Order: sequence, then structure tokens, then C-alpha cells
Amino acid sequence: MKYYILFGPPGAGKGTFSGSISEKYNLKHISTGELLRAEIAAGTPLGLEAKTLIDAGSLVPDSVVEGMIANAFDTIKGYDGFLLDGFPRTLGQARDLDTILADRGESLTGVLSIMIPDSMIYERIRKRAREENRADDTNDEVIANRIRTYHAQTEPLIDYYKAQGKYHEMDCTAPTIDENRARALAVMETIA
Ligand code: AMP
Repeated sequence: MKYYILFGPPGAGKGTFSGSISEKYNLKHISTGELLRAEIAAGTPLGLEAKTLIDAGSLVPDSVVEGMIANAFDTIKGYDGFLLDGFPRTLGQARDLDTILADRGESLTGVLSIMIPDSMIYERIRKRAREENRADDTNDEVIANRIRTYHAQTEPLIDYYKAQGKYHEMDCTAPTIDENRARALAVMETIA
């Protein structure tokens, strides 16, 4: 099985490109953010616990998302691999992912990192807020906290995966979605 991470700051376009990438390579797209929003919508205890943190732009505990990921690896069949979107987001999650994969005799295939500068993040998130109606997209302070959280807790993963020789970056600042999607697919071609 192939295991890819779609990496990048909030609003970079992870959700936008995940469809074409997973379709082309027969991967199961797993977004921990989407799974958490489904738990909130269903009103589960886990959803209730996660909602306060998500609404504040903070991360949920590592154990919560790691449980979801391990469960997905064990139960989802019929694909050539997985495309992880929004996971891992901390060094702890990255190390635990390596262990979760090693326990199953597997390893990470590669990281596709889509990058935009902070100045574009607000613009992209505001656009998404209008289209998708996400509570954590509408408040500037919450967006600012998500950007801070990204730099403090998630950005260090770049060096972690560079050290493993698995980090592949693309510039996602082209003016059209189609152009950025083509770039993402071209980089994917080099790691598939
Ligand atoms: P996303 O849809 O990826 O932007 O995620 C929305 C929110 O869900 C994040 O701001 C976090 O509060 C939470 N979340 C999603 N994935 C993770 C993760 N891997 N670790 C911790 N919190 C997460």
C-alpha cells in the first residue's frame, strides 16, 4: 500500500486537490478535519469534546486523530493506498504515524507539500468561508490562531520529513485552481 501526506498551511488547497490526486492514484482520501466535523454533526461525545477546540482554532489531542487514522488503515479496503490530509499536524503525530505504519509492516511513501505565504491564507480561507460555511473560517482571531498553531506545531514536520528524504514541495500560488492542480499532479508523478 502507498501512504501519502498532503501537507500545507490552512487554506493552501489541500481539500481542493485531494479529489483529483486520490482519483488518479486510487487512494482513499482521509481528512481528519472532515472526520471531526462529521463527529460534531452527529453529536457524539468525541465531537462535543473536539468542537470547543476546533472553534477556537486549536488542535485536538493527538490520541483522538491517531485513533481515527489507525482505524481507517485497518478497516478501509479496496484502494491502492491512502492520502492523508490534515494529519499529521504535530511532531508527536508524525512519529506515531511512523509507528502505526511500522506495526502494520508498512511505511510512508512521500509527502506532497503545498505552500502559500501567510498573506494568501486569509484570502483563501475567507473565500472558503463563503462557499462551505465552516464556523472556524469566519472569525479573524480563530484564523490567526490556526496560522500560529501551524507555524508553531506543524511547520517543524518539514524538517522531519526532509531528514527522511520524503519531502516534496510545490508552489501553490498560481492564480488559477487548475494551474495549481496541474502542479500538484506533476509533483505527485515524481513520488508515485
Ligand atoms: P482542517 O479541516 O484540516 O482545517 O481541520 C480543522 C480543525 O480540526 C483544525 O483546526 C483542528 O482543530 C482539528 N484537526 C484536524 N486535524 C487535526 C490533527 N491532525 N490534529 C489535531 N487537530 C486536528
